[in-house]
Amino acid sequence: MKFHIHTYGCQMNVRDSEAVEALLSAAGHVKASCEEDADLVIVNSCTVRQKAEEKAVGKAGYLCSTGKLTGLMGCAVKRLGADVFKRLPKLDFAVAPRGFGLIPKILAEGRFPRLELGDDLSAEALSSHAAGGFQAFVTVLVGCNNRCSYCIVPDVRGREYSRPAREIVAEVRSLAANGVKEVCLLGQSVLRYGVSNAVWDASDEPSPGGYTEAFPRLLEALSAIPGLGRIRFTSAHPGGCTDELVRAYAEFPKICRHIHLPVQSGSDRILADMGRRYTRAEYLAAVRRLRGFDPEFAVTTDVIVGYPGESEEDFEATRSLMDEAGFDNAFVFKYSPRPGTRSAAKPDDVPQEEKERRNSVLLEDQERRGLERNKALVGTVREVLAEGPSKRNASRLAGRDSGNRIVVWEPPAGSRVPVLGEKVRVRILEAHPQILAGEALADS
Ligand code: SAM
Ligand code: SF4
Repeated sequence: MKFHIHTYGCQMNVRDSEAVEALLSAAGHVKASCEEDADLVIVNSCTVRQKAEEKAVGKAGYLCSTGKLTGLMGCAVKRLGADVFKRLPKLDFAVAPRGFGLIPKILAEGRFPRLELGDDLSAEALSSHAAGGFQAFVTVLVGCNNRCSYCIVPDVRGREYSRPAREIVAEVRSLAANGVKEVCLLGQSVLRYGVSNAVWDASDEPSPGGYTEAFPRLLEALSAIPGLGRIRFTSAHPGGCTDELVRAYAEFPKICRHIHLPVQSGSDRILADMGRRYTRAEYLAAVRRLRGFDPEFAVTTDVIVGYPGESEEDFEATRSLMDEAGFDNAFVFKYSPRPGTRSAAKPDDVPQEEKERRNSVLLEDQERRGLERNKALVGTVREVLAEGPSKRNASRLAGRDSGNRIVVWEPPAGSRVPVLGEKVRVRILEAHPQILAGEALADS
């Protein structure tokens, strides 16, 4: 069959879709050039906010009406359970987020409609990758044991499970041998890697640098892999920002100088209600430690506005925390009550217009702050991995620096176009809130 996958939501879903692509290709199916050309279309869904769920379910509904074989996978399936067929009576199959490894079998058996809510955490499902590319997502941990009051992820993605370190190191070694230059380690809360289950055993090489915590030790082992240029990871819960993590950043230059550290709120009262288990002061102290060895260290975040009971004073506390932290980028979300979560039992009492206003205020602040942070980089030379033509202006090339900042540059006339993943040194001439622009240096 010719297949096409639509992906909504986080990087975890992007990775899972890549894995499904690889599993389907291995089973003899072929990737279609576009949705219209496909016989089978799979929608990978998100349910973290109601709107996200509606988008994915709406898309699947449209596809069902086209007569193509249609499947739904991902977080919305787990939340809806058997009700998914009430919402989508013509849907052929639905698979929960930890069960996508079963899709080739479901297709081979051909009994529709079919609902799979169970797990398939086989090494094959966790490690499959779509071929090609110089960047790869690598799952290190699935599920989440944090119980943040507003979040549905633990219900739909299940209990935390960390993959054995040996399996991850072998996977990254093989990716690097096949041309991958940059890996992004994925988990809902990656700094909890190895906390709920053991990942290193006595027969593994001891840590040369004396690391005792599982995640910094994994970063150390991956840093030693020849050919691999960069290691990123996401997301990081601020509670896991330990001295060993900071030491690993300082000692291993392959670890990108960036952390995505969702703060959610700057008000201690709201943070406590959310069950985030850190205070504003502890969060800011973590940011200071990370920037302590490199002032250009990039910190990005997620913030929720309009959480139940969020007063103007709480909101102003978030605003001031964002200024104090000096975020390089921020994703702002309007609170959306999710069924079954602790906060859904509270009145959703911040009016929609007020959520919109707080959202706009924080985004405007961030535009100004992003521009200031980026202006400080004018004149510096950034090492960038070329990703291809810029989306906004195809005559320019684009890539990212170690801080995950988007850098665009005009290739000098007559110069060789860099291959994807090649390192280019770019002198920054212009700053924008979310982009740096410059010129490639001749020696790069
Ligand atoms: N695991 C990550 C963490 O803990 O930081 C993020 C998980 S979630 C997929 C991504 C972001 O969505 C969260 O950081 C939060 O800001 C936002 N989010 C989660 N639940 C939400 C809700 N009910 N309403 C609005 N935003 C929400
Ligand atoms: Fe959700 Fe909190 Fe887990 Fe992140 S850490 S996935 S916000 S419960």
